[in-house]
Parts: sequence; structure tokens; C-alpha cells
Amino acid sequence: MNAPKDIRDVVVIGAGIVGSAIARALGGTGLSVTLLEGRDDVGDGTSKANTALLHTGFDATPGTLESRLVARGYDMLGQYAREVGIPVERTGALLVAWTDEERDTLPRLKDKAERNGYHACEIVTADEVYRRVPELGPGALAGLTVPGESIICSWTTNLALATDAVRRGVALRRHAMVTDVMAHEGHTTVVTTDGDVDARWVVNAAGLGADHVDEKFGHRRFTVTPRRGELLVFDKLTRPMVPCIVLAVPSSRGKGVLVSPTIYGNVMVGPTSENLTDRTATATSEEGFEFLLAKGRALMPTLFDEEVTAAYAGLRAAIDHDDYLIDVDHDQRYVLVGGIRSTGLTSGMAVAEHILELLADTDLDLTPREGLPPAPRMPNIGEATTRPYQDAERIAADPEYGRIVCFCERVTAGEIRDAFASTIPPRDLDGLRRRTRVLNGRCQGFYCGAHTQALLEAAQ
Ligand SMILES: Cc1cc2nc3c(=O)[nH]c(=O)nc-3n(C[C@H](O)[C@H](O)[C@H](O)COP(=O)(O)OP(=O)(O)OC[C@H]3O[C@@H](n4cnc5c(N)ncnc54)[C@H](O)[C@@H]3O)c2cc1C
Repeated sequence: MNAPKDIRDVVVIGAGIVGSAIARALGGTGLSVTLLEGRDDVGDGTSKANTALLHTGFDATPGTLESRLVARGYDMLGQYAREVGIPVERTGALLVAWTDEERDTLPRLKDKAERNGYHACEIVTADEVYRRVPELGPGALAGLTVPGESIICSWTTNLALATDAVRRGVALRRHAMVTDVMAHEGHTTVVTTDGDVDARWVVNAAGLGADHVDEKFGHRRFTVTPRRGELLVFDKLTRPMVPCIVLAVPSSRGKGVLVSPTIYGNVMVGPTSENLTDRTATATSEEGFEFLLAKGRALMPTLFDEEVTAAYAGLRAAIDHDDYLIDVDHDQRYVLVGGIRSTGLTSGMAVAEHILELLADTDLDLTPREGLPPAPRMPNIGEATTRPYQDAERIAADPEYGRIVCFCERVTAGEIRDAFASTIPPRDLDGLRRRTRVLNGRCQGFYCGAHTQALLEAAQ
């Protein structure tokens, strides 16, 4: 068989945070790169539905790849967020002990944090716990502070990384689900629902689908178990009740239920942790709701006197291996990035850096390219800094920023117009929501849904 004319240097499968970060990093070299996403949009998988914490990695298992990449990712994403305008709030976290057993665990957790290279934790008394979070329910015995834990916008993170990748010359193909691969001498044909792509190297960052793609390469080394996490979102009036992230003492069953402010000015409670078989089961459940109600009410009873305005669920790509599963197969010219379970928002950029290090001794020329375009400046959808509707100068220059479309979230016609004109425009209402917050408020689109739909149709 003659070699096809257009062989890409690298194809990356999956445009979640991890795949987008890898594509962006590869896009910083002279290589030709294609990013394939099965869905209609980037960031439409696990990366859109999580607890959105920028983790210090204080509670990771010391010595693991995950521990190293979360700590590194924390610094990299923190710096990148400043550069491109991803909303971050440095709220800090307070881990609360409610039983004697949990209180006895705190010194071990502090020690673990230090073994993970994080030295800022302090054990505090019950009085200090209540001074920091007065609305906590009765019975807190002590706490551990984690000043570096922060909240971040996971939607903007994914979009910024993918936008940056595209501006660096990465070819993004959405709606291109990989269904098969065919090995040839020196390259692989990646078969997608949108045609074939030939590449010298393939990176599998398919999240929940990573084991299925791995099987196409002839491996049977792991199985993804979708682990559902459900969360409740409270009305914005509750935000002052939760000045920082309130964490549970982790147990063998996981990290437990947290109460956290969100970057959009709400409060969230969750997540649950439930192993499923259906990889598309992102619906919420009555059991999940009841569980969070019971747990959350004990943590902060007054919060539960207020209104829950939304509930959502995400699926962690849990695997039967207790660390990230990253492997380079030199013969197949294939990289597996699997098991990026519950910390990939934080670690994504560090995972990308790690992949480039692993590829350094291959035939890929990873020399950084001169004259890269500047990183994008992302629209601010965070509540802590000025939004367009609050910016008199901006409105005077362009009145569309003063024309509110979504009254709950104060989203303007100018922001919606900008989203349609952006490097990766949304193709549906959910994509528009992740770029602007439209339809994300307490009315759930009751008031602005029809208008927003009309704007979407006009833009297409
Ligand atoms: C409830 C919950 C809470 C979490 N909280 C946090 C947190 O606070 N902080 C943190 O750092 N992390 C958190 N995480 C983890 C984090 O969200 C994930 O680790 C991260 O989003 C994984 O990104 P990804 O790119 O690997 O996967 P994804 O975002 O799922 O991206 C994979 C992409 O691959 C695509 N794909 C799959 N198969 C194919 C195929 N065959 N062809 C083409 N495309 C394909 C999918 O459509 C998807 O878009 C949480 C996760 C959950 C579920």
C-alpha cells in the first residue's frame, strides 16, 4: 500500500482537559497535530461536570505519579489561569473532623501532605473551625487547614487549552468518534465517524472511553468503571455561608462529601461516589439526592433551609489500578493516558508536560517553535472579578454588553455574540452555557431559553 500523502505527526483522541492540554503542548512544537473529539464540543465529557477544585495534592498517595503531577499541575494551571483569564478564587479549604477517630487522623493527614511536598497545613481547634465557618453544624471537634486549595472554572480551563491548541495550529475535529485503528508500517490509520486520519503517533486521552480505544490497539490491560458523583447546587444567596471549601476526612470509601463555594457565586454539596456500568449515566438519582440531603444537613443545617437550584452528575474514569496509567508503546507509536480519575482538571497541564518528556527520545522533534501566537484571553465568567454587565466603560464602547439576555446569571448579548465568533464556537445551548453561563441560573432557562435558542439558530 502507498503511504497516504497527509500523515499527521500526532493524533490526540479526546478533547477533554487532558487531551486539550496535550494537543496544546504538542502544538507548541513544529509537529502537525490533530485533536479528535467524538462529541459536538470540547470539554463535554467528565471535564464539564466535577467539583472544580484546583487541588494542592495534599491528600494524594505520596510517591505516585498522580501525586507528582497534581502538585505540578497546581502550579502550572494557576500560572496559566492568570495568563489567559481562567477564573480562580484562592478560598483555601478546611478539613473538619466530626468524630474522635477523624480527629486522630489529622496529624497523619498533615504528615501525608508534607510527604506530598505540601507544608502549609495546620491543625486547628474546634473554636477556630467555627470562627472560620460559623454556619457549620454542631459537633465539629477540630480541623486541618489547607490554605492553597482553590476553586476554578473547569469550563474555561478546557476551552482555553483547546483554543490555545487551535491557535497554535492544531486541527480540531469535533463529532469525530474514533471507532477503529489500523496499523501500517510507520503510521496508523485512525478510523472515525467523520472519516480517517493517518498519523505517525497516536495519543489516547479518551477518558471514559480510553480502555475501548486501548483495545483497538490490541491491549487488554485495564477496564474503566464509571464512578458517578452527584452534586447539589444552592442559590447565590447562600454563598456568604461558605467562605472556604469544607472538606471531609477521607476514608477508605473516598474523599467524602464537601461543601464548597463555586466560581459562579453559588454553593455546591457533593459528590456522591457510586460505581456504575453505563458510561453515559450522567443523570442524577433520587438516592443520590437523599444521600446528599442527609450528609449535607448534618454538615451545615442552615444551608439546607435554602433552595437547591440545580443538581448534576459527572462520571470519574475509575480504573482497576491505583495510579494514573500512562504508557508509551514505542513499537506501536502509541501513548495511553488512562485512569485520570478525580484530579485531572488540576493535573492536565502537567500530564501534557509529562507526555512530552516521555516522547523526547522518539523520532518526534519536540523543539519549541519560534513565534507562537500569544495565549488567548478568555472571557471572564467568574463572579469574583468584573463581568461585562458591570463594566460601564465597556458598555459605553459597545452597548451589547449592557443588554442582558439571562437575568439570573447576568449574561449579555455581547458575550453571546462573542462566543459565536470565538475560535471554537458552540454548536448547541449547552456549549453556549459553558462559554457564557447563559441558562445556568435558578430559573433554568425558563425566562431566557427561547431568546437564547433564537440567538443560537441565528448564529448557525
Ligand atoms: C464528580 C467529580 C468531581 C471531580 N472533581 C475534581 C476536582 O475538584 N478537581 C480536579 O482536578 N479533578 C476533578 N475531577 C476529575 C476531573 O474532572 C477529570 O479527571 C478530568 O476532567 C478528566 O479529563 P479527561 O480529559 O481525561 O476526560 P474527559 O473530560 O472525559 O475527556 C475525554 C474526551 O474523550 C472523548 N472520547 C471518548 N472516547 C472517544 C472516542 N472513541 N473518539 C473520540 N473521542 C472520544 C470524550 O467525548 C471526552 O470529551 C472530578 C471528577 C468527577 C466526576
